[in-house]
Amino acid sequence: MVRGGSPLGSGAGASADQLAVRRHNLSLVLTHLRAVGPRSRAKVAAETGLNKATVSSLVAELVGRGLVAEGETERGAVGRPSQQIDLDGTNFFTIGTEINVDYLAALAMNVRGEVVAEQQVPLDAAGLGVQAVLRRLSRLVTALIDPLTARGGRLVGLTVAVPGLTERATGTLLRAPNLGWADTAVVADLRRLLDDPPYPILLDNEANLAARAEMEVGGRSAISNLILLTGGAGVGGGIVADGQLIRGSQGLAGEVGHMQLDPGGATCGCGRRGCWETVVGLNALLVAAADEDDPIRDPSLDLVQRLDALKGRAEAGDPRTLDALTRTGSWLCSGAGILINLFNPEVLVLGGHFAVLGPWLAPPLAECLPDRVFAPAAGSCRVELSTLGFSAAVRGGALEALARLFEQPTLVGDLTATPSGAMA
Ligand SMILES: [Zn+2]
Repeated sequence: MVRGGSPLGSGAGASADQLAVRRHNLSLVLTHLRAVGPRSRAKVAAETGLNKATVSSLVAELVGRGLVAEGETERGAVGRPSQQIDLDGTNFFTIGTEINVDYLAALAMNVRGEVVAEQQVPLDAAGLGVQAVLRRLSRLVTALIDPLTARGGRLVGLTVAVPGLTERATGTLLRAPNLGWADTAVVADLRRLLDDPPYPILLDNEANLAARAEMEVGGRSAISNLILLTGGAGVGGGIVADGQLIRGSQGLAGEVGHMQLDPGGATCGCGRRGCWETVVGLNALLVAAADEDDPIRDPSLDLVQRLDALKGRAEAGDPRTLDALTRTGSWLCSGAGILINLFNPEVLVLGGHFAVLGPWLAPPLAECLPDRVFAPAAGSCRVELSTLGFSAAVRGGALEALARLFEQPTLVGDLTATPSGAMA
C-alpha cells in the first residue's frame, strides 16, 4: 500500500513519482469499494490507511472520471451524517466474448461487476472458417454495444476467449485444434472489423478466463488453490495455485485436455492419440450416447438445448445415455486424479458440459478420487459444479478488462473536462 501524505494534485508541477502514487491510490480506493461496497469517505480512509483529505481528493477525481458516484446519506451513531460513495455503474462497461466450437458468446459488464447485456448464438465455428466467424463475432459485439452506447455507456475494454493456445502479447491464437485454427491474428482482425476502436482488445484462453470468473464471482474468492475443468468439444484447465493462475514459461500451461491417457485410443484434434479430451470431451460423450443423425449431435443447434435433451434422457433412465455418462465419469476420474496429485487443490470445479451433466458425473467422481490420489481422502479436495454455465469465460473476459481499468483508473478521462468522456 502506498500512503499519500497529502492530497496530490494530478495537474502540472506534480512529479512522476507523485503521479504514480496518485494513480496507485485511485486504484486502491476503487478496488476497495468493489471489495466492500458503499461506504463513507471516512470509512474508506480508516479501512485503507489513507488520510481523510487524500481520500476526499481521490474520490472527487473518481467522481469526475465517472467511476464513482455519491449515494445516500448515512447517519452514524455519533457525529455528522456522511454521504456514502459507491462505484458508478452508469458510464463505462467492458465486454467478454468467446469463440467456441459450438457457439459465439458476448457479455457486457458495468464497473460494478453487474452483467448488463448477454448473448449467445449457436455456430458451427469449425465449419465456417476464421474470417466468417470473426465477422459474426464483430456483429455480435456491435449488437451488444449499440443499445448500451445509446444509453450513454462507453466501452472501455474487450476480451476474446478462445479454446486454444494464445500469445497474449500479440493477440494471436497459436493453435486451436477443435476450431482448426492456427497462427490467427484474432485481435488484429477483430480490431479491423470493428473499425479500429479506441478500447484495448485482449485475447486469452477460455479456461484461464473461466477460472478468473469462478474465483471472483463464483463465490470462491477466499480459495487459493483451485482447478477448473471446462468441458466442451475440447477440455480446458484453469489451474490456480497459491492464489496465482499458472501460465507457465510461455503462457501455454493448463492444456489438460491433451494429457495422453489412452495411448491406444482415438486420434485427437491435435493429431496425437488418446488425449484426455478424446474420452471426456463433449464429442466423445455425444458419439457414445447418440447416432450420427440424432439432433443432439448437430453443432448448428443450441448447445444448451442439446444438453437439456441429453439430461432428459438420463433422467428417464435411457441405458445408452447412462452408459455414456458412466464412461465419461470413469475417464474424468483418471485425469482429475493426476491433476489432484500434482496440485492438491481445495476445490475441483466442473464447468461447461461437465456442470450441466454434474448430477451424473460429480458424485461418482468424488467417490472414485480417493482411489486415484495418493494424499489421504484425495487431499480433502471438494468436487463442485460451476454455477456460471457456458458464460464463465465471457464473465472472466469482462472481469479481465475491468481489472485493467481498476489498475489504471486514469485510462478514462475526466467527464467534466471532456463531455464525451474521451479516453485519456
Ligand atoms: Zn490432443
